[in-house]
Amino acid sequence: MTRTDGTAGAAAPAGERGGAPDAFDLLVVGSANADLVVRVERRPGAGETVLGSDLAVHPGGKGANQAVAAARLGARTALLARVGDDAHGRLLLQAQRAAGVAVDGVLTGGAPTGVALITVDPSGDNSIVVSPGANALLTPGDIRSAARLVRAARVVSAQLEIPLATVVETVRVLGGAGRFVLNPSPAGPLPAEVLTACDPLVVNEHEARVLLGDGAGPDPAGWARSLLALGPRSVVVTLGAAGALTADGRTGVVERVAAPRVSAVDTTGAGDAFTAALAWRLGRGEEPAAAARYAARVGAAAVTRPGAQEAYPVPAQLPPPA
Ligand code: ATP
Repeated sequence: MTRTDGTAGAAAPAGERGGAPDAFDLLVVGSANADLVVRVERRPGAGETVLGSDLAVHPGGKGANQAVAAARLGARTALLARVGDDAHGRLLLQAQRAAGVAVDGVLTGGAPTGVALITVDPSGDNSIVVSPGANALLTPGDIRSAARLVRAARVVSAQLEIPLATVVETVRVLGGAGRFVLNPSPAGPLPAEVLTACDPLVVNEHEARVLLGDGAGPDPAGWARSLLALGPRSVVVTLGAAGALTADGRTGVVERVAAPRVSAVDTTGAGDAFTAALAWRLGRGEEPAAAARYAARVGAAAVTRPGAQEAYPVPAQLPPPA
């Protein structure tokens, strides 16, 4: 294993190097991918080839995106992830550092940096194939090695572009010390141990339908209630230009949050920006609906420019609330 500072061996993340670990507002445990983006007139069907624009390479991956989004908003943010010892990995680390994210927890080597192959159509909708690469080698042992960093964070946010066992270990190591936020993407079955730790579980429509299966009715408020029944302490359903819903497991109250009206150019990474902003504001003690209203402004700003991380706003770039 090679550390991002170029030293070899199993050196521990910052929080393990003696003394008190940095107390981050948000620790993101997740993926880092290079986004390889081609714009197309329409996305190809099975067996079809279409011509697209020149290739653009952007730093991405749900974990790396969330970390950059939060740091640009002003949150003290750290990333726990793994990248390859290659040009894509260096691009990702540079983007994290430029945003002000602490990257001592980013491990290097073992496989190529993860890659997302993205096509974007003129309406801004996207299709994505992910090659996990080094993300698949972020292990439960890596989380245990970073235990002090994990426990010291106000909020720990995870997604599913890293092994599920690593997410499970994150919940175990966290042990309720800080708040746990999960965006289960790509969507798949979740153990009860993870579901019950989520506060909130943040899903888009597709993820809600996968988690609920045939039981997902037509109504997003119904999805939120059904998702609560799976065990999370709270749920947030994101609905693109229609905004979001928050659902509180203690009270059962479901609240609708509108999205500011903006002209969407590229929705890549909007959910990551939303989730990072939400997690950070919840960690500051805001009520779920207030935190979601703020996150909706962040998600709206993110869709007005191409790419993911490069599109993420600083506070002065946020649209007014809807
Ligand atoms: P992605 O996978 O593209 O990153 P997602 O499907 O996970 O996104 P969305 O529900 O599309 O998540 O978007 C997350 C949030 O971003 C929404 O809840 C909304 O607040 C904001 N948002 C997304 N698209 C738009 C839009 N066109 N106009 C305004 N706000 C938007």
